[in-house]
Amino acid sequence: MALPPNVNATDFNSALNAWRQTVGAEWVFTSDEDVAMYRDAYSPWWDEPEERVASAAVAPSTVEQVQAVVRTANQYRIPLYAISTGRNLAYGGSAPVYSGSVVLDLKRMNRVLEVDERNAYALVEPGVSYFDLYNHITEKKLALWIDPPDPGWGSVIGNALDGGGGWTASPFRDHFGAHCGMEVVLANGELVRTGMGALPNAKTWQHNRWGFGPWVDGLFRQGNMGVVTKMGFHLMPRPEAMQMMTVRVSQEQDLIPLVDTLNLLENQHVVNGSTQLSGSFGASPAGAPATAWSAQAPVYGPERVVRAQMEHCRELFSRIPGARIELGDLTRVPLDEAALARVRKVNFGIPDLSTFGLLGRSAADPSPQGGHIDFSPIIPRTGEAVLEYARFYRENLAAVSEGGALRFLGPVFMTNWDRTMVAMIMFPIGRDKTHNARMRAAFVKWVELAAARGWAEYRAPAGFQDVCAKSYSWNDHALTRFRETIKDAVDPNGILSPGRYGVWPKHLRNA
Ligand SMILES: Cc1cc2nc3c(=O)[nH]c(=O)nc-3n(C[C@H](O)[C@H](O)[C@H](O)COP(=O)(O)OP(=O)(O)OC[C@H]3O[C@@H](n4cnc5c(N)ncnc54)[C@H](O)[C@@H]3O)c2cc1C
Repeated sequence: MALPPNVNATDFNSALNAWRQTVGAEWVFTSDEDVAMYRDAYSPWWDEPEERVASAAVAPSTVEQVQAVVRTANQYRIPLYAISTGRNLAYGGSAPVYSGSVVLDLKRMNRVLEVDERNAYALVEPGVSYFDLYNHITEKKLALWIDPPDPGWGSVIGNALDGGGGWTASPFRDHFGAHCGMEVVLANGELVRTGMGALPNAKTWQHNRWGFGPWVDGLFRQGNMGVVTKMGFHLMPRPEAMQMMTVRVSQEQDLIPLVDTLNLLENQHVVNGSTQLSGSFGASPAGAPATAWSAQAPVYGPERVVRAQMEHCRELFSRIPGARIELGDLTRVPLDEAALARVRKVNFGIPDLSTFGLLGRSAADPSPQGGHIDFSPIIPRTGEAVLEYARFYRENLAAVSEGGALRFLGPVFMTNWDRTMVAMIMFPIGRDKTHNARMRAAFVKWVELAAARGWAEYRAPAGFQDVCAKSYSWNDHALTRFRETIKDAVDPNGILSPGRYGVWPKHLRNA
């Protein structure tokens, strides 16, 4: 059995015994076989000494048990790493950021506590997956949609806490942004409710997210200040219909008015669906410049409003010289069987797993690596920025890809959030250590090159969180120091998810 760093065997055994008392012996995992379940299947350090691995895992089923587990960890100074469903593939899986931490596995806490159709919200526990919430809503025949990310097996809470996003309408696609109210266990075991939830007998915990005084929920997004045991989310009332417009332009300079028009329509909330921007750029290893671009603009709402909004979209897009506009069929909701077979399910609030076919075996890639990690820098949402990123990619590709020997996937320009886009590059990762090492070096290179241009990541795989956090260095890393000050105050023994998103407790900061 592995020991957590800086913890002796006597103390660890005392803690394990205390946890067995708390959660039941069958929910404390120490065997190699059990602990291996918490490895990151997409780890770019797989089977290498630097791979982030757990020493043990403990799986409570109630909030009181979480409090007791955390108190014990605090007593013996044992680092914990909280996960909800732990399916954070491409960003670290269920493995801890700090190797040797004990995984605090919350997937047994899987109750949908409340779904309110009239005010369109849900209150859930960490183990509730998108499939669970969808099934609950479907069984109760509620006219509500969830907003799933591509893989529907993940946790509504875990995905939001890692900064994840989905594919239906704004503002529900930004999962942390759509949350309303939290319950959190702090490092000393104390239980806190945020926003209106701090009011005993609160009537509006999931209605109003701000409450009274400084808003603290942001500390728990990509943070390590507490263990979240409940979270509320605003849900989208089921729309009547969805229709999509596709606009194609053929000249490079037309990309600029294309993105500007898309932005205007989204900022006016005329287009509310998850838009897509596609170009031929990047499709070849040589990163040839795009000769054609297209934008997809979906609108959800009542049928006659959707039709009117599409007319407005047509009017604005037709001002772009040479733009070819295609209006797709209007899809009515709930979907009939023919529509269900045709559409991308996640765009209609239906959880799915077909995304895993994306990087699977195909004619083009008969022996895929099996996994991938994502480089996800945020860039401005303008045509100029896309063209600059295209030039940046072309200029650096040969050097970073070792003269074309390494194949990356992308860039993909994801416009599914307001105001910015994510220029994602995917790095295939497998079990070949030499290949993985080259991909790791390429990843760090892209991070550094992008940071020099003023672009940085919105989210990163666990092993690269430090290098990405270092990009946010304005005023001699003032933001990191501020976060460290808070960390030291709320978790003085540094037991909660040390190192997550580059925030280390005092005793590990210079290690
Ligand atoms: C092919 C593919 C497609 C993908 N598509 C998408 C996509 O469309 N959108 C997207 O967002 N992601 C996507 N991902 C990334 C990822 O798989 C999902 O975001 C997934 O939902 C995250 O795993 P999870 O929900 O199980 O969260 P978890 O793994 O449970 O949580 C993520 C992290 O949050 C923290 N955390 C979790 N729960 C708690 C808690 N209760 N208290 C404190 N901290 C906590 C932990 O640090 C944890 O590691 C994709 C991945 C792949 C491989």
